[in-house]
Amino acid sequence: MADEVFRHDGYMAVFEAGVVSVNGDEVILDCTAFYPGGGGQVCDTGKINGFRVTDVHYNGKEIVHVVPGNDLRPGLRIWGEVDWERRFDLMMGHTGEHLLFCALHRQDPELTITKIYIGPDEKYVIVNHDISWEKIGAALEFANQAIRDNLPVRKTVMSRDDPDLEKVRIKLDRIEEDEEITVVSIGDIDYSACSGIHVMETSELGMLFVDRKVSAGKDGIAIHFKVGNAAQSSAMRLANICLQAVEEANSKPEDIVRSIANMKHDLAVAAEASKAMVKQQIKNEIFGEKRLAIEVFPKQKNLVDVQDVYHLWVFPKDFDLPFGIHPIRDKQCKVISRGCPKDVGYLIENTRQMSSTVSDRERRNQADTEVFDGQRVSHPQEKET
Ligand SMILES: [Zn+2]
Repeated sequence: MADEVFRHDGYMAVFEAGVVSVNGDEVILDCTAFYPGGGGQVCDTGKINGFRVTDVHYNGKEIVHVVPGNDLRPGLRIWGEVDWERRFDLMMGHTGEHLLFCALHRQDPELTITKIYIGPDEKYVIVNHDISWEKIGAALEFANQAIRDNLPVRKTVMSRDDPDLEKVRIKLDRIEEDEEITVVSIGDIDYSACSGIHVMETSELGMLFVDRKVSAGKDGIAIHFKVGNAAQSSAMRLANICLQAVEEANSKPEDIVRSIANMKHDLAVAAEASKAMVKQQIKNEIFGEKRLAIEVFPKQKNLVDVQDVYHLWVFPKDFDLPFGIHPIRDKQCKVISRGCPKDVGYLIENTRQMSSTVSDRERRNQADTEVFDGQRVSHPQEKET
């Protein structure tokens, strides 16, 4: 088994080693600084004697370096060179993930991690359920303060019966009985079982920023984050987009969320109003402007207009409705506002009283006339004639 340099020194990017075996593109060394990936972090890439290392992975306990077109042979001494910029970004990302989850968990103790991905282009942690942007904001405040405080990131080995294991975020079922438990601590704010590669001090992260959260299906919600310069660029870009939106909405940054909610509400009201006008127009076109019509809400069990096909009842010429439909002119009219359902209980009660009055009048009328001349009308594009 090779000496795994990255386990005790995450900063060694250039190293000397001996070739143990070569099998086509696959090379095994007696010592390596190439991280084979793990804990959600992707593997390192780099060079061995100038040949590109495109993939590194475990095969059992051996670390296999994939070096296409190499001319290496067993016994040869080589120079290995890890792509440092990429590795440091992954180390920062991995430490950032610990810090981010610790900070999110303070905001929502019910939060658990489903999956982690730390790659050069994307970094995210999938958590079991959604968390509000307000809480993410508070978590980032905490995490970035921890970065400014430059807390030490330390690695210790614990045994299974260590009482301190209680404060460690750990999934014991994933650790073999005889395996030692490596715990990574960030100051005294977070303890997590992890055998990945991390930076040594939080200030190395520079900045931590969450720029996206998306559904991850049954796994939960993926919270995408960035560290270092990428975090700064992303924060500036999004702040600028937000300011453009603020200007477009003629609002203030602190009011923009409420402004957009109001706009959405107004749009919904306008859409409803436009629907009502379309119905009015259908009635006018088919039966003429002077005929009275009402929209009917059938009993729940008789409801057939599941696809928004509605029932329009049109009455005989010169028919006088036994109840009011004009909100101002007709005293008996109760208006149920589409946009304000909070008074619906009161309105339902009033409408009940109103309908009992209507029933009395209907009973009186029923003797000499058939009241309703029912017509069912669908949407204009599927108009039944
Ligand atoms: Zn870790």
